Amino acid sequence: MNKIQQGKLILTGVANFIKKDEKIELLVKKRMPTCLSCQHFFINRFNTPKCRACGCLLLFKLRSPNAACPLNKWNKASEDQDYQKQLTKLEHEK
Ligand code: SF4
Repeated sequence: MNKIQQGKLILTGVANFIKKDEKIELLVKKRMPTCLSCQHFFINRFNTPKCRACGCLLLFKLRSPNAACPLNKWNKASEDQDYQKQLTKLEHEK
């Protein structure tokens, strides 16, 4: 993935961080535990979670449905079958 593609994914994550969609927050809840237990996870000097493997700010990356872990520890939302099941359940509960 080039820098422009990576930037677009992060911008999507920024937009989703601002508007706080419940489906996106479900995605964060699913992805975050994996990052928290990963050796590449760290908190930077601005007290913000980051990934050392890709250099991304995780507050945004985790909120970008088409983003994926560079080490394949989690996938794009469309390829995450467990997340898709949780989404279906969420929609049926409405
Ligand atoms: S995105 Fe992947 S490599 Fe980076 S901290 Fe999360 S699990 Fe680890």
